[in-house]
Amino acid sequence: MSDVDSPAAPSRRPAGPIRLTEREAAPVDVSVVVPIFDEEGNVDGLIAELTRALEGSKRSYEILCIDDGSRDGTFARLRAAQAKDARIKVIRFRRNFGQTAAFTAGFDYAMGEWVFTIDADLQNDPADIPMLLAKAEEGFDIVSGWRKKRKDAFIMRKLPSLAANYLIGKVTGVAIHDYGCSLKVYHRDVVKSIKLYGELHRFVPAVAASLGVRVAELPVNHRARTAGESKYAGFYKTVRRATKVFLDLLTVRFLLSFATRPIHVFGVLGLLATTGGAGLGGYLAIMKLAYGATLADRPLLLLAVLLVIVGVQFVTMGLLGELVVRTYHESQGKAIYAVRTVLDTSVDERSE
Ligand code: UDP
Ligand code: MG
Repeated sequence: MSDVDSPAAPSRRPAGPIRLTEREAAPVDVSVVVPIFDEEGNVDGLIAELTRALEGSKRSYEILCIDDGSRDGTFARLRAAQAKDARIKVIRFRRNFGQTAAFTAGFDYAMGEWVFTIDADLQNDPADIPMLLAKAEEGFDIVSGWRKKRKDAFIMRKLPSLAANYLIGKVTGVAIHDYGCSLKVYHRDVVKSIKLYGELHRFVPAVAASLGVRVAELPVNHRARTAGESKYAGFYKTVRRATKVFLDLLTVRFLLSFATRPIHVFGVLGLLATTGGAGLGGYLAIMKLAYGATLADRPLLLLAVLLVIVGVQFVTMGLLGELVVRTYHESQGKAIYAVRTVLDTSVDERSE
């Protein structure tokens, strides 16, 4: 699908919005990234269902199986499947690094123009892949699956997820129903330009939308797990995951709005605190000097001193933040903008 941008072929998709350089030809149409951790009972069925769906879609494809440090027979099964079909690729981690790391590895290796993510446990239905692809090709950069009829426990899984999706939508301004659904498709421009940390994979649509990427969603099939068990079930894991998601949301919110100007956040807080502290201090000074009041028993004095110190700290933090941000953007060559299209006749003339 290298002809997307050439004028002769009417592009079935507008030029990539976060593309900064000319797009290289994608060697395959579709990459499917599957994080796999202790799923020996699911591997064979997964490969079979994926192969059926992808062959049916009449596209060239690769299946990237990321073995996230499995301790059971998962790797042996993947190796056997890979030996039979060169379109299957296996990346085996040295230990369990978690789902986000697995997605990142998949995104790094993916060669396809479209990159799918899907769970290995067959809760997502590979048969939905052609439908998502068709939607993406209508002109979207991300199409997110929405597990409208989700087959998971209500209290421990669906309820926290409802709350999380609501909160993420409110905080990031990108309201999609199911951030947590693994079945999604991204244009390669998106996955190649976004770095993931922690549990950040679920925020990709929100971060990408802030860069001007078009996001759509479609209801997808969801099935109960039949083999193996959920890696996140249980009260303790649910609370731990919820905490991480909440902290990541804070980070994302910060990165979305203030990452380029930390002083605008911390500086304002610092100035407010310092002004408040100075005001209180001034008032106390007048009381002391003009009226001879004793200040030793005034908690207000403590507050005034605290506010000034905190205020100065905030301003300093803002300035340090500015330094960090400069390092961040400059060392990684990160742009603070995202280009949709470049029209430059001189470039065309030179290349002809
Ligand atoms: N997974 C992984 N590394 C982990 C945990 C999970 O690669 O540390 C994979 C797992 O094999 C599955 C997907 O991530 O393919 C989703 O995990 P799971 O089905 O346990 O989550 P749930 O559907 O219960 O949210
Ligand atoms: Mg699952």
